Amino acid sequence: MDKIVIVGASAAGISAADSLRQRGFTGRITLLGSESHLPYDRPPLSKQLLSDQWEPERLRLRSAEQLTKLDLNLRLDATATGLDPRRREIALAAGEPVDYDGLIIATGAAPRRLPGDDLAGVHYLRTLDDALALRPRMRPESRMVVIGAGFIGAEAAAVARGIGLSVTMVDPSAAPMARALGKRVSELLAALHVDQLAALATELDQAHAALGAAGDPGRGPSTGWEPALAELARRAASVATTIAGTARSHHATVGCSKGKPKTHNRDLG
Ligand SMILES: Cc1cc2nc3c(=O)[nH]c(=O)nc-3n(C[C@H](O)[C@H](O)[C@H](O)COP(=O)(O)OP(=O)(O)OC[C@H]3O[C@@H](n4cnc5c(N)ncnc54)[C@H](O)[C@@H]3O)c2cc1C
Repeated sequence: MDKIVIVGASAAGISAADSLRQRGFTGRITLLGSESHLPYDRPPLSKQLLSDQWEPERLRLRSAEQLTKLDLNLRLDATATGLDPRRREIALAAGEPVDYDGLIIATGAAPRRLPGDDLAGVHYLRTLDDALALRPRMRPESRMVVIGAGFIGAEAAAVARGIGLSVTMVDPSAAPMARALGKRVSELLAALHVDQLAALATELDQAHAALGAAGDPGRGPSTGWEPALAELARRAASVATTIAGTARSHHATVGCSKGKPKTHNRDLG
């Protein structure tokens, strides 16, 4: 085997390249990545990057020296669009197909898309570009609705509250991070959010009112995305209210401390 192509230039892709070299593969390794950035670590996106503590360079998974050592044919801005196993070729969105003897697909995950996401002011949080686009919009006087109360949503909400934004979290689960952590722990976290982040879904109605009024001259310029966002929030409103109710009743029994907002990020080391 002389030519190995790895599709996906992130954690899995770069680790695969590392392993191949460590195991003595001396042939050509082509690493295809659809983004324009050198391989970077995603976990800090919703933590240090969003909170402006780190600049993008710090997220790099490998230094320039390490990349040179790996001797990769690294192709950024190269999106694979098709696979022809008979010809052993990968088709690209732009340019000539790339042929391989061995193929590794490490294309990771993509966020679920929602209707209305093409409007200004609606952001996903998956890539470095997403985080860089969102970061300057997180100003203390802003209001943010976080759709998805998993780890990433909860982390983004915690960062936003730390900056001073008014935050509303919306999720179809009974409590934040319920899928990953189970009911009991997620209810504790909901209590923390309500107590320390102040505005879990409890402020949904106020958020609606504020979104509706955002076009008023006295409230600043409308960004045009309010109706779609309000609709998304409205759909989740009943569930969100339940989250808040559960959290409040739990709060009475667990006795969370009041004070400065705390983040509960996972440390990746
Ligand atoms: C904001 C955020 C915070 C996170 N925090 C944590 C955390 O605290 N702890 C934790 O354990 N995990 C966390 N994760 C998850 C962790 O980042 C992922 O598990 C990890 O990135 C998976 O790596 P991967 O290489 O498999 O996939 P990905 O990181 O998804 O990378 C896949 C790569 O493939 C590229 N690609 C996709 N399709 C194509 C194509 N057709 N052609 C070419 N390239 C393509 C993509 O552009 C991407 O660069 C977080 C994720 C995000 C987004």
